[in-house]
Amino acid sequence: MRRKAYFPKKEKSVLEHSSRRNEPRTKTKEAAAIRRTQTAVAIVVICVLLIVLSGFIFANSLGAFSPASSSQIVTAIFEQSSSISEQNKSEPSAALPLFGKTVILDAGHGGYDNGCVYPEGDENPEYKEKDFNLQIAFEAKTALEKLGAEVVMTRTDDSFLSIYARPAMVHLYCLDYAKDHGIPSVPEDFETRIREELRDTIRVNSTDISAGCMGPMVGSGFSEDLIRLLELEYRLDDIIFISVHNNWNSKTGLHGTQVYFVTDESIIESENRLIKNDPYYSNPDYIVRENYYGRDPENNRALARFLHDSITGAVPELEPNLRELVEDNFAVLREQGLASVMLELSFVSNEEDRRLLSDEEIIRQMADGIAQGCIDYYNNR
Ligand SMILES: [Zn+2]
Repeated sequence: MRRKAYFPKKEKSVLEHSSRRNEPRTKTKEAAAIRRTQTAVAIVVICVLLIVLSGFIFANSLGAFSPASSSQIVTAIFEQSSSISEQNKSEPSAALPLFGKTVILDAGHGGYDNGCVYPEGDENPEYKEKDFNLQIAFEAKTALEKLGAEVVMTRTDDSFLSIYARPAMVHLYCLDYAKDHGIPSVPEDFETRIREELRDTIRVNSTDISAGCMGPMVGSGFSEDLIRLLELEYRLDDIIFISVHNNWNSKTGLHGTQVYFVTDESIIESENRLIKNDPYYSNPDYIVRENYYGRDPENNRALARFLHDSITGAVPELEPNLRELVEDNFAVLREQGLASVMLELSFVSNEEDRRLLSDEEIIRQMADGIAQGCIDYYNNR
């Protein structure tokens, strides 16, 4: 299948183009001499490159390179961000239950953002939420693909990915998806502009959790631009977004799987509360918009219910001793319009849950539960 990048290849500047075009033609003899010299130089350069490259591969295989610099990290995020629609292109069988469905798996946290840890305050804690999230996401990918789903992941390694980069990546993916599947999308001039803004949002937020510059996602409620994207995404019934997390609580007895989701009501209620109580949101510069209603109020709840029941069915120890479903306001769910949930699979703060997280067989069962929940959701739509 066609591969696409979310970030355009670096274009030559207009100046570079014009200087090339205006280059005078060299006279024939001089040209032949220059060509011979160029060929010799090219051979030498290729040899040197081969030597350097083989040295690099050898050293890298020995783990001899120091940790990535911040510029390398930024490059890695860009490469990773561009890969969300380039993953998993094998052809599943049409007889499989999730054939034709796409699941976007979003492994929470990453890079310097560990998420929850245990023991707390430890410089290099044994349990890091970000690692479990990624491990579970990979297992879920395997389980979902066996059932015929196409799976894409927002991160596939230990890279930092900010909260606002994730929905921006989802929007870009959905614009591509609509085009590929012949689904009526957004006007072309809007698409060109919004793609640029979303790329900027990812770029600006690439090194910090709260770098700001949320682009079309800024302020309370939803901008006109964002509503256009949401309305496209409501129609993409064959895509599910699942953010994979693990939880923490100072009450170490709390354990088990909770599933979080958003509705228009839960978003409005939370934003009104924040605007009233939090000085950041009551700042006059903060954009406050009218309440927006557009989501199917039951869709995310249904997905949350099926996923909760199938995960705890697969791993009964994950039946929680607190609320199973939580309706609230989470940026990765709020800022896009796909059927979406956030799984809080266990509590890193709970001893028994830590034991479950350390058991590879349990992780596989969790992943099977996630895949089964997707089947149940589609079977009951
Ligand atoms: Zn988390």
